Amino acid sequence: MEKIRKRKQVLDPEHQHQHQHQRPNSKSVRSAPKSPATTTIDKDPYPSHTRPTPPECQSIRDTLLSLHGIPPELAKYRKLKTPNDTVPPPETVLDGLVRTVLSQNTTETNSQRAFHSLKSSFPSWEHVLSAESKDLENAIRCGGLAPTKASCIKNVLRLLLERRGKMCLEYLRDLTVDEIKAELSLFKGIGPKTVACVLMFNLQQDDFPVDTHIFEIAKTIGWVPAVADRSKTYLHLNQRIPNELKFDLNCLLYTHGKLCRKCTSKRGNQQKKGDDSNSCPLLDYYKEAD
Ligand SMILES: [Zn+2]
Repeated sequence: MEKIRKRKQVLDPEHQHQHQHQRPNSKSVRSAPKSPATTTIDKDPYPSHTRPTPPECQSIRDTLLSLHGIPPELAKYRKLKTPNDTVPPPETVLDGLVRTVLSQNTTETNSQRAFHSLKSSFPSWEHVLSAESKDLENAIRCGGLAPTKASCIKNVLRLLLERRGKMCLEYLRDLTVDEIKAELSLFKGIGPKTVACVLMFNLQQDDFPVDTHIFEIAKTIGWVPAVADRSKTYLHLNQRIPNELKFDLNCLLYTHGKLCRKCTSKRGNQQKKGDDSNSCPLLDYYKEAD
């Protein structure tokens, strides 16, 4: 896979307003490529909060990897991280985005069913866009929030067609993280967590989405201050967690969070000794916190 983040010709005239610093007629600006160090505009809201440290991230990754392994449905995305891998991506970026939209507020099983139902009900994205909203909703109903998700998917498809002439998001593969975030933020209903998932799974960028489980774990073991909300947790963890560990750690914490009640409940760290379930290795890290 081509991993080089290059500035691109996709910045076509109709959306130059999104990238005013690149407007050709603007006199003081050049389209100098950003260095990787400046590809993120996000700032750490807790710069003095030094956890998680890189050794801690490594240690937790190793512990959870031996405990859970990377689940197969996520492992297919991980393989692409290997530089000499020539295996084509497991799905298109647009499929990944829609899959992520369908995964909101439902279980993995139901969201998979909704996605498969969608793909088998409509032979192409063109058919999805031209379908009656009711038919689209029926196809994805098992994933919940069908009217909201149907309208979100249609909006994405419509806007893509308007702006780019086709329903395809593969062009995002050649953009920087900031550019990808700017592009995806144009779509109504596509929030930061969906963007982070697409970045990590489909675009092989070093991003660390924060879902409910990961948010709870981060608070429980002290990776963020107790007052942190999810978006600040996202910003902080993305600054603190070493890039090369983000994918594994994210999949493993997500997997762990679904299985373990101790570190995802608010009282997780107050579990009584002698509790009949297995102990949670992450709570050892809690004890090391201040
Ligand atoms: Zn746990």
